[in-house]
Amino acid sequence: MSPSMRVAEVRTPGGAFEIVERELPRPGPGQVRIAVEACGICGSDAHFVDGNFPGVSFPLVTGHEVAGRIDALGEGVTGWAAGDRVAVGWFGGNCGHCRSCRAGDFITCASLQVPGWAYPGGFAEAMVAPATALARIPDGLSATEAAPLGCAGVTVFNALRHTAARPGDLVAVLGLGGLGHLGVQYAAAFGFDTVAIARGADKEELALRLGARHYIDSTATTVADALRDLGGAKVVLATAASADAMSRTVDGLAPRGELVVIGASSDPLTVTPLQLIMGARTIHGHPSGTARDVEETMAFTARSEVRPMVETAPLEEADAAFRRMRSGAARFRMVLTTGT
Ligand SMILES: [Zn+2]
Ligand SMILES: [Zn+2]
Repeated sequence: MSPSMRVAEVRTPGGAFEIVERELPRPGPGQVRIAVEACGICGSDAHFVDGNFPGVSFPLVTGHEVAGRIDALGEGVTGWAAGDRVAVGWFGGNCGHCRSCRAGDFITCASLQVPGWAYPGGFAEAMVAPATALARIPDGLSATEAAPLGCAGVTVFNALRHTAARPGDLVAVLGLGGLGHLGVQYAAAFGFDTVAIARGADKEELALRLGARHYIDSTATTVADALRDLGGAKVVLATAASADAMSRTVDGLAPRGELVVIGASSDPLTVTPLQLIMGARTIHGHPSGTARDVEETMAFTARSEVRPMVETAPLEEADAAFRRMRSGAARFRMVLTTGT
């Protein structure tokens, strides 16, 4: 009998996670097998579980915030060795031949492979991934710290470093959840005059502790007015998945300010052309980042004081942990751990 592994799988759309044994997969050419140590639970996992995204197949093993060690190498893999500490995030491989790939823009690959969508993901004791999807974990980060950086971390880090904002500029982070609590920390570490926007006065203390210099309680004040009172935001990083909350920041952007959208929602933004024209403002989305971006996010994080705040649960409790993420109660990222 071949060696086996435990995975948390969902058998039908919207179903519960169940722990089952599967045959240990073998890495094919260009692939490695990873002994998973930690896997974050992302908001988009709910879309996979519910079968909302095209091409999701069941039984499903989701999970795209993976940290672990390489334990087997497929044919032709160079530059990696068994025992290497690696992360795999949202970027789980690219096709290499589409228009984006040929332009070197791998994250917008027309056939981007997301772990837990294109192939079984990290809610498991082991998984197989293309070597091109691997990011090296630096010594200063534990597996539970590294895992959330593969999606949540790289998304905010990469979004912020690709804006026009410079040190000292007013940068606002909308939302203080799994993405936002990292966004505030990175914005402060980048030297921005950082504003946190969230719901309720009780979040102010946390926001300031994470490095924000200003806090706006969106339930008590008009967010755009508050941003304008601070001089106008060069960037609003919109992490909260609320199109309405995002729309209400636009008038708080400085001239040439950018609203950068990363909180996934299918609701429409409400913005008039005039709001954009008068201040030469822009709105754009930002998708995660490549394996190289994940590696740079982790290297920066290890050297800084930025750390994801996580709640851990063993793989066996995947279903309860997933429900906790879904309820919004998690502070701030749920991470599954395995005993390996
Ligand atoms: Zn994600
Ligand atoms: Zn491609």
